[in-house]
Amino acid sequence: MSEILYHREGLLGPRIELHIAPEGLTLVGRGGAGSAEFAPLADVAGVSAAPMGRKATVTISFGSARSAWVIRGMHPSVAEWVERLVTEEQSAVAKLASPQHNRRLSVDEITRTCSEIVADADGRAAVDLADLILAQAVLHGASDVHFDPFSERVVVRFRQDGVLQDVVTLDGGVKQRLTSRLKVVSHLATFKNAVAQEGRAALKIGGRTVDFRFSSIPTIHGEKVTARVFDPARSIFDVGKLGMTAEMLSLFVSMLMQPQGTILLTGPAGSGKTTTMYAALSYLHEHKRNLSSLATVEDPVEYDLQVVNQTQVNNASGLTFANALRTVLRQDPEVIMIGEIRDRETADIATQAGLTGHMVLSTVHARSAAGVLLRLVDLGVEPFLVASSVTAVLSQRLVRAVCANCAREYAPSGEESGRFRLKGGERLQMGAGCEQCNNTGYVGRTGIFQLAPISDTMREMLLRRSSLNDLEGQLENEQTGTLLADGTLKAAAGVTSLEELSRVLG
Ligand SMILES: [Zn+2]
Repeated sequence: MSEILYHREGLLGPRIELHIAPEGLTLVGRGGAGSAEFAPLADVAGVSAAPMGRKATVTISFGSARSAWVIRGMHPSVAEWVERLVTEEQSAVAKLASPQHNRRLSVDEITRTCSEIVADADGRAAVDLADLILAQAVLHGASDVHFDPFSERVVVRFRQDGVLQDVVTLDGGVKQRLTSRLKVVSHLATFKNAVAQEGRAALKIGGRTVDFRFSSIPTIHGEKVTARVFDPARSIFDVGKLGMTAEMLSLFVSMLMQPQGTILLTGPAGSGKTTTMYAALSYLHEHKRNLSSLATVEDPVEYDLQVVNQTQVNNASGLTFANALRTVLRQDPEVIMIGEIRDRETADIATQAGLTGHMVLSTVHARSAAGVLLRLVDLGVEPFLVASSVTAVLSQRLVRAVCANCAREYAPSGEESGRFRLKGGERLQMGAGCEQCNNTGYVGRTGIFQLAPISDTMREMLLRRSSLNDLEGQLENEQTGTLLADGTLKAAAGVTSLEELSRVLG
């Protein structure tokens, strides 16, 4: 029985899986896969493995507790292959940790560096391009990187502050190799190009380990690869940094601290709902005395919150939102976050839980705060249950913040003053565009909100089955504010611009 011990001190973070499938072994031409004999891996902290046989897929997980990887009883030819793979990966990670990848380059510099890499083509062009682009995406604070294939070129785009920006256009000659490299990095099957695939990778950039979630889908011009960036430096969840006014924040946390109730968030995809819920959980963890437990049911789990029991929905294995929620509730958590309510069962269980000693946080797809309540009724929840369980609805959007480096004060036009009901005297700002904001005039984002506590009048109206219009009118009477009013307040303070509010609110 041979034993190989790889020390991977701090190189890779948790949740990294390396799938070594027999076809993968054949593909890289190391041979020996067919005759390989696998024995079960020893159970070591941080290392787990599926039962292995001649044809089994070996899954090795790197735990966060121990940065060691132990493989026992592996056929020598396979062991040699694995060793080589690890060495290659270590050098790739070490390379990303080098100083040139810790400095944010301007878009022009990225373009120039990419051309230099392609020009010196020494067989490593694809590796160097992938490293450079992924590292720069992180340094630019991008949330996604898109590699869009066209017939003669590949366009690399970063999503920054919610908006996709073209960064560099590469010649079609590197398309195939770059795609293969990205698939190798993210442990996707390089030989499968007609199916959609998902994979993960962790790379060390700027002194920290950044997770990437990759997906590849076939298009008529080749595979389109996208990578979502999960940067720990951007995952600090603090209710004080969401962008709520002091008054709204104190109302929001006072509702969170109630022993029971249901707080529902609404807003389109990418409007910051998950961040708000994570920030709320972090607040409760820090401030609620004798808090027994916090749990989540999510699809997908976006960040590992460490102090919360997070459950990932898995429809393929029957662990739907409703099933997962039922199971989690048996353990009686004090606070539960549900990624999304989109079916009757989940809606029923969630609203019941909010009435029986749990604080429930979730999201519901609707066009307005009042629409959230009617959406639950449309899903089949009894109006009295909605009326008695829901404490508040928080509607939100994310707006880009004006770049402090190139901000200029300006006077609004008459049309803007009318549309935004400006009183005059506001200090409106607009970014002129500079190197620091990639000429967009914006850096970072902040939330705009409407927080609507559900009043007794609203409850009665729900029981009487009032219309959406009437419910919305009532919220207006109660002066719960609007997204536009909250946004205008932020534009008047120079945080965002009127142009940005128009873009987000339509
Ligand atoms: Zn700027």
